Amino acid sequence: MPLSHIEKIGNYWALSGETIAKVSSTDPIRGLTKEEAATRLAKHGYNSITTSENTQPLLILLRQFTSPFILLLGVSTILSFFFKEWLDGFAILMVMILNTAIGFWMEYQAHRSMEALKKMSVVQARVIRDGEMMEIKSELLVPGDLLFAESGEMVTADARIINANQLQVDESTLTGESFPVDKGHNLLPEKIPLSGRSNMLYKGTFITKGNCFAIVVNTGMKTELGKLAGIVQQAEQVATPLEKKVRILSKKLIWITLGLIVAIFTGSIFYGTPVTTVLKIAIALSVAAIPEGLPVVTTLALSFGMLRMARHNVIVKKLSAVETLGGTNVICTDKTGTLTQNKIEVSLIQAGSLSARVRINVAGTSMHWMENNSIPGTAAYAHLCRISALCNTASYQLNGNEASASGDPLEIALLKMIHASGMKPVQYQQQFSKTDEIPFSSETRVMATLHKSKEQDPFYYIAAKGAVEDILKYCSSVLDENGKSHLGEKQKEEWKAIATKHAQSGFRMLAFAYRETSKQEPSFMHNLTLAGIIGFSDPPRAGVTEAIKECKNAGIRVIMITGDHPETAKNIALQLGIATPGEDVMLGSSMKPYNQLTASDRAQWLRTSVFARVSPEQKQHLVSVLQDEKMIVAMTGDGVNDAPALKKADIGIAMGLRGTQVAREAADMVLKDDAFTAIVSAIRQGRIIFENIRKFVIFLLSCNLSELLVIAICALFNLPFQLFPLQILFINFITDSMPALALGVSNSGGSIMQRKPYPPETLIIDRKRWTAIFVYSFVITATTLGAVATSHLILHYNDKWNNLVYNNILFYTLIFSQLFQVLNMTFKRDIPFHKTDVFRNPAIWYSIGGCIGLSLAAYWIMPVKRILGITAISQGDWCIILLYSILTVAIIRIIKKMKITI
Ligand code: ATP
Repeated sequence: MPLSHIEKIGNYWALSGETIAKVSSTDPIRGLTKEEAATRLAKHGYNSITTSENTQPLLILLRQFTSPFILLLGVSTILSFFFKEWLDGFAILMVMILNTAIGFWMEYQAHRSMEALKKMSVVQARVIRDGEMMEIKSELLVPGDLLFAESGEMVTADARIINANQLQVDESTLTGESFPVDKGHNLLPEKIPLSGRSNMLYKGTFITKGNCFAIVVNTGMKTELGKLAGIVQQAEQVATPLEKKVRILSKKLIWITLGLIVAIFTGSIFYGTPVTTVLKIAIALSVAAIPEGLPVVTTLALSFGMLRMARHNVIVKKLSAVETLGGTNVICTDKTGTLTQNKIEVSLIQAGSLSARVRINVAGTSMHWMENNSIPGTAAYAHLCRISALCNTASYQLNGNEASASGDPLEIALLKMIHASGMKPVQYQQQFSKTDEIPFSSETRVMATLHKSKEQDPFYYIAAKGAVEDILKYCSSVLDENGKSHLGEKQKEEWKAIATKHAQSGFRMLAFAYRETSKQEPSFMHNLTLAGIIGFSDPPRAGVTEAIKECKNAGIRVIMITGDHPETAKNIALQLGIATPGEDVMLGSSMKPYNQLTASDRAQWLRTSVFARVSPEQKQHLVSVLQDEKMIVAMTGDGVNDAPALKKADIGIAMGLRGTQVAREAADMVLKDDAFTAIVSAIRQGRIIFENIRKFVIFLLSCNLSELLVIAICALFNLPFQLFPLQILFINFITDSMPALALGVSNSGGSIMQRKPYPPETLIIDRKRWTAIFVYSFVITATTLGAVATSHLILHYNDKWNNLVYNNILFYTLIFSQLFQVLNMTFKRDIPFHKTDVFRNPAIWYSIGGCIGLSLAAYWIMPVKRILGITAISQGDWCIILLYSILTVAIIRIIKKMKITI
């Protein structure tokens, strides 16, 4: 059969592994050659699913027309044309177009940033090419690739299993079946539904247990998932609670405006104002009152926040996570790799009664024994190396001084130790072939493999490694300098004490055991011989101590939850300041199930900062206990079994480097470099964003309300210098939107991490902030009208009130006082003005500069000047405008200082 037709066979499950290997010209041991893989990639294309995303921009554009603001503007345009106010009509139409364009641009940007973030979370796959195990981007997989996949990984192409160990796959994405199904390599009948094809792996499913080798048969759109992609619609982007809150607020404002319009309308008719004038006022009011920028700026602030977090190596998968982060008050973190560097190195070896500290050089080519350098010659050490090589799913290759590795860092460290001892892991793998495996799981904390000798027959070797107390359960003898001896309960306690002593120095301890037998046993974990224990060093990450201190200042508790030894956990917790000396570590074995917890158990859980030997299920229980206390919990996790706890937590955080794809899928947030410090900077960002949204909402509302008040006062008192609709549009578009945007995307947190987290029910605009909005807008209204009065008293006392200059003074004072008011948008009233976050934010100054430029341009450019009804303004009037605008900021600042408002 021609090579290229492997993907056309169809019934792969009904063909043997050998046949599949043959038709795909794949060596079942060495895989494809790199050249062949490149040729096939050129032929078959990337292994990715393409969705019809290009319709998105059009949808975004159409969505703009559903905004009530646009609809209101539409009505205003029609009314203007109806009353033959052509200029107003066209101008409002222009504004409508401009608003749609701005709305579209902002939403499109937000959409693009999210797309960019999606692309950042690339899924990797492990393949064997040219006989070498390597990690590649899953989109580079080709039909015929020999794939290795294990527990926690996402299947990235359709493949026929040729060898499986206790394999279980969660196929719910494809079949809807919620329980993981067992998989193997046995031949199946041709006519069997997809859900029954137990020797196949399908793209998009997850491996929940075991591992396997498989040959890729289909990639990209030819996979079962690819075929479905056309039918399955992408889940609709749901609005975040914050966006919802802002939308509700905007809707409320529209109703308030309509109410006001009706009131003023009736009032004006009562005064006998001509209907056309009243309608004009109504149009002016409708455009003045609605803070049209609100929803869009909110989305933009959130998505900008996501991008900023991405720069800190945090990928936020859901927009809503950004705001939950701001309220987080407990972080439950694991230890290995998050708090520690995950640069795991073999540092201590205990073989029999001899123990020695060792140092392996960076390249993994030599090993320095600090004491007892006779250990390498002992039988126990030989077994330690053999177990390390055989009971291992990682790979480590040394080409000269260049090392390439993939897999669990702990297992890589063991392979490195073998290399440094002058041996090669492949030598062991060539002597033995693996016939069975009990994969490592966080629940059992043990991994074991059964091997058949290729040289001696019949000879089987059982290799096991795992947590000391768990491996000891399976041991009945121990190997030391004098050979094998019985291992009773007393000796086991002695070994546990040795492990505890080393763990107290911060080492991660692992025990190694073996058995040699002449027959293959289905259940082989018994009567093992302990070969020794190895201690791994994994120093704390830089910056974690400071980050934990920052959390404490910010009212956030940090709890360490680890599967590791309690003493190792305690050592690291003390170093980092998570625990205090004398504080007890809670052991998983002493944690009762959630439904049996008494009040005192709960109190004890809540007091504890370090939990050790904890199972993934207990993690979930701990989240529940914390949530029962109304805490907002961020929880890190990396294993398959951590997925439920990640989902249960308010913020599930998965690890980008170490985490399984299952965990990443379940999480709301992924840490690209696994670092704890990134969580803290994400929380900081979350708080900044919430604060920014608050600031621009207050700013926009106080501006809009002051416009409304000015218009209402002019209308009610029949003042002849009323603002024109176009002037209001100008103010809204130019002077309000730009500073609001600058506030929305600002990144200055200042002392934001020195106060307590927001309770979840915190409103964007609470009573205190509503008061502030009213006070600010009253001040702006008063100073604006004050400017007109002053000008009349000082400069124009002979002029009639309908002189256009009054209108212009009103217009420009409103512009500048609103513009300068942005400088008051800081909640730090106790520090000097020039030191506030807003004052030091360059974006604010750019927006102020830009707005002043545009406002002055409107004064100089003739057609604009005419449209806006602007006449010549004397220097004296300009002085009054400026003076009153600065006065606004000063008065509000004094009010804030006097703590009348925030
Ligand atoms: P954390 O949750 O902080 O990352 P952890 O990584 O130590 O903790 P697990 O990975 O569940 O938690 O490991 C628990 C214990 O299982 C370890 O302390 C170790 O003794 C043992 N262990 C870890 N990795 C392996 C492995 N690859 N093979 C055998 N045993 C292992």
